[in-house]
Amino acid sequence: MQKVGQGLGLVRIRVIMSTATALSPEILAKYQPVIGLEVHVQLLTESKAFCGCVNQYGGEPNTHVCPTCLGLPGALPVLNRKAVEFAVLAAKAIHCEIRETSIFSRKNYFYPDSPKGYQISQFDKPIAEDGWLEVPALAVDGSAYLKRIGITRLHMEEDAGKSIHDGFADSVSKTYIDLNRCGTPLVEIVSEPDLRTADEVFEYLTRLKEILLYTGVSDCNMEEGSLRCDANVSVMLKSAKEYGTKAEVKNVNSFRYIRSAVEYEIERQIGVIEDGGRVVQESRLWNNAEGRTYSMRSKEQAHDYRYFPEPDLPPLVVGAAWQAEILKNLPELPEARRARMIAEYEISAQDAATLTATREFADRFESAAKQAKSPKRVASLLTSELTMRLRLAGLEQEQSPVSMAGIVMAADLAESGELSSKMLKQLLDTCFEKSEDFPTVYEREKPQQISDTGAIEAMIDEVIAANPKQAEQYRGGKKTVAAFFVGQVMKASKGQANPAVLNELVAKKLDALGPLA
Ligand code: ADP
Ligand code: ZN
Ligand code: MG
Repeated sequence: MQKVGQGLGLVRIRVIMSTATALSPEILAKYQPVIGLEVHVQLLTESKAFCGCVNQYGGEPNTHVCPTCLGLPGALPVLNRKAVEFAVLAAKAIHCEIRETSIFSRKNYFYPDSPKGYQISQFDKPIAEDGWLEVPALAVDGSAYLKRIGITRLHMEEDAGKSIHDGFADSVSKTYIDLNRCGTPLVEIVSEPDLRTADEVFEYLTRLKEILLYTGVSDCNMEEGSLRCDANVSVMLKSAKEYGTKAEVKNVNSFRYIRSAVEYEIERQIGVIEDGGRVVQESRLWNNAEGRTYSMRSKEQAHDYRYFPEPDLPPLVVGAAWQAEILKNLPELPEARRARMIAEYEISAQDAATLTATREFADRFESAAKQAKSPKRVASLLTSELTMRLRLAGLEQEQSPVSMAGIVMAADLAESGELSSKMLKQLLDTCFEKSEDFPTVYEREKPQQISDTGAIEAMIDEVIAANPKQAEQYRGGKKTVAAFFVGQVMKASKGQANPAVLNELVAKKLDALGPLA
């Protein structure tokens, strides 16, 4: 637990924390958690949503601004066409219906980082509705299955600026405002309350991010705030017919923290109810250092925002022809791609998951695989030997000393038997030690392979003579013992015997001994 100061308030917090964590499994099992997520995603357009200012993270404060995004009187918004296309693309990727005519609305609230006094958003006629995405989940009997999570809507809106509370000599008494982010195009993706566990929340976010990255509509960089998530959490008795009152957890900037925040919040709410209290509808903040949520403010209702149609923007019409045009940019999505790759290259689900981690990596693998003798071998080299060495060296895929072409060359040499797996590993080690690509290292250090059949035969004879017991087993019908002899000769030749030749000769020599009488 955190160091605790003095004062009544903190003592009370300790008590609440202990009830929140001391619930027995029997009590937890009486309740059904219910979770719905609201995810905000910044779009990767070059300019902002309603003006020509550059849409770029950071920058000298208040330099990416103009009369429109500063909300100066008389400045009029003009909708960014690319933002609409990205919104439609994202919506299609999560199986939403596109509304042909959607309406922008003003969401009115007063906060210093929003100079207009309202946010341009969409309210009752959003651009997209009724989608879904699938997440791996556990059934009651513990088996895994794909669970469909409903997506209520995806709507377009603009981001606000930022209040800066520290970093200045006088920031104890002052708050600074940076409006560079004002007017950045966003989509908000609202899920149905279909999630039931913190793990499902984690999976949903992971899948959603992966899909958005594949479509290229956002960089989903959580540290820079391009993807932000609010989690709505409630609990109900399993016998209840209606959902409980929800609290919304805001300001969590990693998926792992969101999982912890949801876990905490579920237990907190159960604790409140078990103690005879009522869950209050409110917004709460996650404090990661303390591992708990704090009440932030009571939750606004929709009518608090006094929504009304934005008078400065006409209805947005995305007709069938434009939709079809946009859809041409919809790539094969991760789930479908994995399924196809498993079938096409005969690789494991695990390998397919690694290879499709990003669209770029999957593209590079597939174009390499097409040139290789065995795509399956390329896949396994990438997911085992290369991945392991990258991890040990603390490198990302794109920093690998071994290029995709190098991997293909290595895979082909292994496939044809010109390179034993031991040699291959040694050469890859050298690539990483010297930061050199595989072809360079191979040309310089390629094994002086012994392909001279006479020399190899002599070695085999020696090994057979030295291991009569194994030879007898082979003669008795246990053909797998051949691998033992291959290994022994390989060792004797210091890994330099040509594996293809060796395999063939070992079998020949052993067969020549004839079966046991
Ligand atoms: P509000 O009107 O408070 O904004 P909405 O009905 O628009 O609430 O839902 C906002 C989000 O909260 C959605 O993601 C939805 O799935 C989720 N949600 C709604 N009711 C509950 C509930 N009882 N428990 C958990 N999540 C909920
Ligand atoms: Zn601007
Ligand atoms: Mg709502």
